Amino acid sequence: MKKILGIAAQLLLCLIFCLAGLRSASAQNLVIQHARVIVGNGNVIDDGSIVIRDGRIASVSAGNAGARGAQTIDARGFSAVPGFIDAHRHIFPRGDAEKWLKTDAAASMQQFLDAGYTTLLSGAGPVPGILELKQMIDSGKMKGPRIIASEAIPLRNITPDEARAQVRKYAGMGIRFIGEEALSDKPTPGELEILRAMVDESKKISGVWVMVHAVTPEAMMDSVSAGAPLLVHTPHFGWVTQAQAQQVAAAHVLELSTIGFGVPVFGVFANDNKPRFRDGAPWPSGVINDEGLGQSAGYKAVNARTVWDAGVIYGYGTDTNYEPKAGLSHELRSLNLMFSPQDLIKLMGPNTAAFIQMSDQLGTLEPGKLADIVLVAGNPLDGYWNLLNTRVVIKGGVIVSDQRKNPAPAKDN
Ligand SMILES: [Zn+2]
Repeated sequence: MKKILGIAAQLLLCLIFCLAGLRSASAQNLVIQHARVIVGNGNVIDDGSIVIRDGRIASVSAGNAGARGAQTIDARGFSAVPGFIDAHRHIFPRGDAEKWLKTDAAASMQQFLDAGYTTLLSGAGPVPGILELKQMIDSGKMKGPRIIASEAIPLRNITPDEARAQVRKYAGMGIRFIGEEALSDKPTPGELEILRAMVDESKKISGVWVMVHAVTPEAMMDSVSAGAPLLVHTPHFGWVTQAQAQQVAAAHVLELSTIGFGVPVFGVFANDNKPRFRDGAPWPSGVINDEGLGQSAGYKAVNARTVWDAGVIYGYGTDTNYEPKAGLSHELRSLNLMFSPQDLIKLMGPNTAAFIQMSDQLGTLEPGKLADIVLVAGNPLDGYWNLLNTRVVIKGGVIVSDQRKNPAPAKDN
């Protein structure tokens, strides 16, 4: 009996160790070798390796990681950067959401992946469309970036109790980001009463945040006073003072760029070298919420630097709906006026991950985080344009775009 127990114990031990051995061999499933690793926390490894296991980054190190039995990417000449996050993106075009889901969504989602986007926070709904899209991607039925849903609540023709009920309803549907529709340039007491109710109700539910489009410094300060934790816009109608920027920082409110808003777009809506607004209307007359001369392009850029220098955690958002890579190129070109390449890495990586409340999962290439990685040709620290040379995109440890043979060209840069 003792002998049998002994053999059984040995078998059990073998089983445990053998299985453990098998697991580490098969799960160590992707290794990137010889990449310039731009970690996103300020560190850069000139010739580095990233080992990916079970969809997460297992290790990041200088030199050759030498992981056997894993698929290997030779990334000589490439830089590895954290997967791009657009924290305010209008994903669905206007019109029939259901039809778009059936006919166009798959191609659109692949365009996002090809541009390097691995996570999108949807700029308000539509519900249920956005939840259906998220479900299709999460379940593997469609390839696409990680989708974070949101929905907006109107600030007019609604009572505070109705606004609270809507916050609870959307939270109950799994929507963690609640937008507003839409705070005025000069917010009225009625709008602010609704906004305060939304914020108050959201704070009773863990993991739910209110995000506001504030288009003027006045609206930004009112939104901060109302307790809203997130601003999806940089004000584009009037100058933000240093004192205002410091108040935003002191309130720990996070803010997104969207500074391409007033900057003319070229070569996207027509190849005629004419400046256009982001919906294809002529620039500057077609710029909405502008004084008519395209001033918003200047206001936004300068205000962006003002809030950044005051210490606001400032992330990346485009607030647009046109072609992903052209939108990326346009927003980066606009940001380039005021931010260094190092700033851009911080802005797009850890800062945007903080905005979407996923700092522990995304935003840098560090062990334990989700393996969302973009390999680009060249060095993005030499210039933003190198963030457009997408070659390989990895989401959760899976290669979702491989353009090593046929790189997609970038427009508007
Ligand atoms: Zn928006």
